[in-house]
Amino acid sequence: MKAPVTVVGLGPMGRTMAETFLKNGHPTTVWNRTASKATPLVEQGATLAATPAEALAASELVVISQTDYKAMYDSLDGAEMKGRVLVNLSSGSPDELRRAAEWVEGKDAALLTGGVMVPPPGIGQPDAYIMYSGPEELLDRHRDTLRVLGDTTYVGADVGLSNLYYQAQLYLFWSTLTAYIHSIAMLQSAGVSAEQFRPFATETVTALGADGPMGFLRIIAEEVDAGHSPGGENSMLMMAISADHAVEAAAQAGIDTVGPRALRDLFWRTVDAGHGSDGLSSVIEVIRKGA
Ligand code: NDP
Repeated sequence: MKAPVTVVGLGPMGRTMAETFLKNGHPTTVWNRTASKATPLVEQGATLAATPAEALAASELVVISQTDYKAMYDSLDGAEMKGRVLVNLSSGSPDELRRAAEWVEGKDAALLTGGVMVPPPGIGQPDAYIMYSGPEELLDRHRDTLRVLGDTTYVGADVGLSNLYYQAQLYLFWSTLTAYIHSIAMLQSAGVSAEQFRPFATETVTALGADGPMGFLRIIAEEVDAGHSPGGENSMLMMAISADHAVEAAAQAGIDTVGPRALRDLFWRTVDAGHGSDGLSSVIEVIRKGA
């Protein structure tokens, strides 16, 4: 028989996770603040727990997917959880996750955290992956069950790491796509359609992750790890002046300038910090200093 699992939280993500466990033959108990959301899952074979305590009692493995970590405290405070392995896949800040681990350990249970790197329809699909952090032996113990949701990528013992990775990926994703949208708006002001621009944008974004001379994901990682940022023919000073032009271009197009201004300010602060002849990766010196 497959291992039993409890799912707490039946938003779009938790509901899909519970369905995926059921489809893979795991006896699945569910609990949600709004109990009616469990009805379709009960029709598919899930057991609805009447209380959080009943949900915790049903399985050693308890997967939580709620809006935030506050929801976990609101739901589980006061319920017996001794010996349970809580796998919280909700998003939160790293320190919030570390505090949550202490709270759970104080109740003689253990916490693994995860950052889900796909939207609900991706759960259980071949490309799905979830980044886990916390005690590795707990992940190993429940890997066969958790694997039905997606690849179980372990990123480290610090329980906050899963969501540090998650936030890092999300920032990369949002800022890249927002820059793309900004570029589209700029070109639209001169009658160029988004579809006309797309092949050029594709070329740039694809090249960044490839191995060629534009493969800046690798180049920057190597420079940052080596603590060395050679400017060569692309100095920070030249790029700061070009960033001035990017702000002017956005203003002339009559569009919002907040993105290019943030970039320009960062570039000039990097120049002012003495990195005018260094390369782009030297912006990390200013970023690391914090506000
Ligand atoms: P939702 O915000 O829709 O989750 C809602 C769930 O949280 C419901 O079960 C809701 O209960 C419960 N909840 C919220 N507040 C409380 C509370 N105070 N007490 C008890 N239960 C509460 O999010 P999703 O399902 O979309 O996502 C879940 C998590 O997964 C989030 O942290 C999200 O950031 C993360 N995630 C989501 C992705 C997505 O594309 N959806 C992608 C990657 C990660 P009720 O039904 O009673 O309101």
